[in-house]
Amino acid sequence: METGELDISSPSEMTKVSVAVRVRPLIEREKKGDAQIHWQIGPQDLRPFDPEAKRIVPNSSTYTYDHVFTQSTQTQQVYDKVVSPIVKQAFKGFNGTILCYGQTSSGKTHTLYGSNDDKGIILLFADHLFQQIKADETGRQYIIKVGLIEIYNEKVSDLLNSYNPIELQERDGSIVPHGLEELTVFDIDDWKKVTERVQRERKIGETRMNKESSRSHTILRVTIESFDLTSNGSFDEAQENSEQSPPLTTAVLHFVDLAGSEKQSQTGAEGERFREQVNINMSLSVLSRVIQQLSEQASVSSFEGRSSSNDHSLAKAMVNSMVRTAPRPRFINFRDSKLTRLLQNSLNGNAYISMVCNVTIASFEETKSTLL
Ligand code: ADP
Ligand code: MG
Repeated sequence: METGELDISSPSEMTKVSVAVRVRPLIEREKKGDAQIHWQIGPQDLRPFDPEAKRIVPNSSTYTYDHVFTQSTQTQQVYDKVVSPIVKQAFKGFNGTILCYGQTSSGKTHTLYGSNDDKGIILLFADHLFQQIKADETGRQYIIKVGLIEIYNEKVSDLLNSYNPIELQERDGSIVPHGLEELTVFDIDDWKKVTERVQRERKIGETRMNKESSRSHTILRVTIESFDLTSNGSFDEAQENSEQSPPLTTAVLHFVDLAGSEKQSQTGAEGERFREQVNINMSLSVLSRVIQQLSEQASVSSFEGRSSSNDHSLAKAMVNSMVRTAPRPRFINFRDSKLTRLLQNSLNGNAYISMVCNVTIASFEETKSTLL
């Protein structure tokens, strides 16, 4: 059997999914334009709000999220709730994926890469990572590798190495980005240098295409290898259940800045822009289908009658998947897009997935299409 169609029916292999919403503060153009507030923020949901009638829209549908972060939230709080648990699991050898999802200008890149007065997830992760390594007094050795990948129109390229093409190859049951230049990082100073380079290349990538709108997925891939030199290399069951890490672990974390999720009707795109949008919509709907499949049981009543092929509300798929505890279907369509193929090993099996849905309360339609 090919790993694109993994048999993952073992009930012990549960993907852990969490979904958060982050509301960004109003930006200048919204403040100037007398923006109205279209959403009321609850502790775990967002409700459509009618600014004229000054009340919640009656009978409107909402979903419950694991966390809702308001305009005044610093990314550190997002990190603590959403990313930190995944990093802790990575130290035990489990893969993870952190996805920032939303329309252009909703705050995805801010959440991941930060600003001068609000450190982003990537830097907070580095602080956490090297703190954990320092705190480990067992003599374990760690090797950290970082690569930066762009997926644009289903082409995968190496952002740290002249846009060299990357081929997604299967090796020993894992998907490997063949051709990717990975930088080895030894300490936080190294990490800062690498992230400066990452920021530079990422920004060039962004403006090279379209300043107004992010048309590509940008993925920071971090591999954490660790090994215990004193161990004889055996890995028994007692260890699997203990707090102690096995002698040799490899975990891959993917930090994904997804392309803007605006719909074709919103972009009014033609020609090249249209092709980009078709590819973005395709890969977001494949991602949402894969996440549904990862968590779906053979027949789930709430999914009946719903078309999964056109439905690309990733947030909805994620929320639905949180409440599933049943065994998964046998086949997962990782091969249907480059993004899901690349993320395959950090989505399935014992992987941990967190998604931050970035939204603004100053727009009704944009936020609705991200969340509902
Ligand atoms: P996206 O990557 O989703 O297109 P950005 O991260 O570029 O959006 O955010 C759009 C604008 O909003 C930027 O000017 C950014 O600095 C600002 N912004 C986004 N989120 C926040 C936040 N939480 N706090 C302050 N400014 C933010
Ligand atoms: Mg962006």
